[in-house]
Amino acid sequence: METKQFKAESKRLLDLMINSIYTHREIFLRELISNASDAIDKIYYKALTDDSLSSRKEDYYVRVVFDKENRTLKISDTGIGMTKEELDDNLGVIAKSGSLEFKKENEVKEGHDIIGQFGVGFYSAFLVADVVTVISKALGSDEAYKWESKGVDGYTIEPCEKDSVGTEIILKIKSNTEDEDYDQYLDEHKLQSIIKKYSDFIRYPIKMNVTKSKLKEGSEKEYEEYKEEETVNSMVPIWRKNKSELKDEDYDNFYTEKHYGFDKPIKHIHISADGMISYKAILYIPEKIPYDYYTKEYEKGLELYSNGVMIMNKCSDLLPDYFGFVKGVVDSEDLSLNISREILQHDRQLKLIAKNIKNKIKNELQNILKNERDKYEEFYKSFGRQLKYGLYSDFGSNKDFLQDLLMFYSSKEKKMVTLDEYVSRMPEEQKYIYYAAGESIERIEKLPQTEIVLDKGYEILYFTEDVDEFAIKMMMKYKEKEFKSVSSGDLGIDSEENDKESSSDNKENKELFEEMKNILSDKVKDVRMSKRLKNHPVCLSNDGELTIEMEKILKSMPNNQNIKADKVLEINTNHDVFKALKEAYENDKDKLKLYTNLLYNQALLVEGLTIVDPVEFTNDICKIMK
Ligand code: ADP
Ligand code: MG
Repeated sequence: METKQFKAESKRLLDLMINSIYTHREIFLRELISNASDAIDKIYYKALTDDSLSSRKEDYYVRVVFDKENRTLKISDTGIGMTKEELDDNLGVIAKSGSLEFKKENEVKEGHDIIGQFGVGFYSAFLVADVVTVISKALGSDEAYKWESKGVDGYTIEPCEKDSVGTEIILKIKSNTEDEDYDQYLDEHKLQSIIKKYSDFIRYPIKMNVTKSKLKEGSEKEYEEYKEEETVNSMVPIWRKNKSELKDEDYDNFYTEKHYGFDKPIKHIHISADGMISYKAILYIPEKIPYDYYTKEYEKGLELYSNGVMIMNKCSDLLPDYFGFVKGVVDSEDLSLNISREILQHDRQLKLIAKNIKNKIKNELQNILKNERDKYEEFYKSFGRQLKYGLYSDFGSNKDFLQDLLMFYSSKEKKMVTLDEYVSRMPEEQKYIYYAAGESIERIEKLPQTEIVLDKGYEILYFTEDVDEFAIKMMMKYKEKEFKSVSSGDLGIDSEENDKESSSDNKENKELFEEMKNILSDKVKDVRMSKRLKNHPVCLSNDGELTIEMEKILKSMPNNQNIKADKVLEINTNHDVFKALKEAYENDKDKLKLYTNLLYNQALLVEGLTIVDPVEFTNDICKIMK
């Protein structure tokens, strides 16, 4: 009998397959079962149009038989089978057929990486077997053939006996080595769990003999074990079912079954897309934040299936980071069964699905916001920060997409509001969207800087999370309205008269302010008359883009670079304290120094900043009490 040689690429791949160190050897079973399922698909569709085949209907199944003693594992199917020529063509050349196009552009690189570079299909049998035997009888043929190979040396094909149409793949499982436990592929429970894990939703039954126990005959306590053939897979995945067949409870159960979370999701999205790309998906928006969500351990991603066969546990390419909290599964017929992450990343179909999913999630969130506000606020408490990070990252490229999902606490409504709600009720003359940043709502409410804006009747958004101001700086504008911190230099509120008055006021007090600035030296950039204070004597504001809140946040970061906001000490010239300042300036320079330092430190305290020398501050207070 003639031994045929594999084609060059196949030989190379086989060699690597046999000798590489690879941790996911168990996927061989997934590949072989999926081939069996494909073969049954082919005869199944033929039977739809060919009456002579219709009697076969009940006969569609895959069978897995293991034999520990002889170290064989057999996967048989009642599929369409292969002719002699097909055995030669399909198994002699790697990845000949459509779903497994050999990626020529991806040069075969040696090493363990190899399997990551393209789908391995049938050849993965060599991950666990020394000898692979394929016995097949094609539909419409009277003869059966046996294909056999020990790996790189080539393969043989010879006639053999087989009663029914279909294919049997017999693996001679390798002996254990120091590093590899091959025995597990002959173990009932392991095999069962591999099938469950990767092939649960194959739509034909996967049958296997499993051990059961029953009471011994005539005994009331003694059990005996026996074997019975069982269907191991559950066959119909929930995402393939019709929405109308399913209750909320079913979706919730699936969420728990899959260990997506311990909470009850606030929403599920069941997608059945047909069009440019067809796929089915069930997505969940969780209610509670997973405990490890903001740690490095958390891995985002959706489970990915190709036509009922699991490809990947967590396909991260399907979700943008800002929707990293979403859980669920995606199943598409348009994806090639392929275990390579690198290829997946470049897969055009996958990109289309990801884009589609991204939009669906956003739409759903917007719906919840619109129709179930309480639920949305609950969700936003958990994941709002993530959305804001999303807005900030990637140089703000997602700002248009995400901006309408944001919410902030409103000074006016005393609850969370959207930017759209804010802008739609802005008085006509109001130029900016005002915000105030601080540790907590209570703290912000007491900020002197908010006085004039609130007095004008304008709404202020309270920023209490560290990411808030950074996100908004990235946005710059919402619906043509610029954001403005209540602490920024120019609030855009003063009328022209007010401006003139204040500039003359500034001139009049110029020398006093100059003197104060000298006293404070590099602690402040300037001392000015305030246009925003009413009841408070002083406050700090900032010149330039970097606000005092941002400085605080940057300072708290691990690799802080001591970046400082340009601080301005603002003095309320209508306040009694100002009179005291003026008097001190004219009569007592020591007093002026004392007052200036006191006021500066006060402003720091109100702002939530630390006083550099608290002892000096308390001493100063004592001095004025004496
Ligand atoms: P793919 O499944 O992506 O086509 P494989 O390497 O897994 O690639 O299989 C190669 C080809 O061998 C298949 O396309 C199919 O034509 C044939 N084949 C493999 N297993 C079977 C089987 N159990 N029954 C019929 N044909 C099979
Ligand atoms: Mg295959």
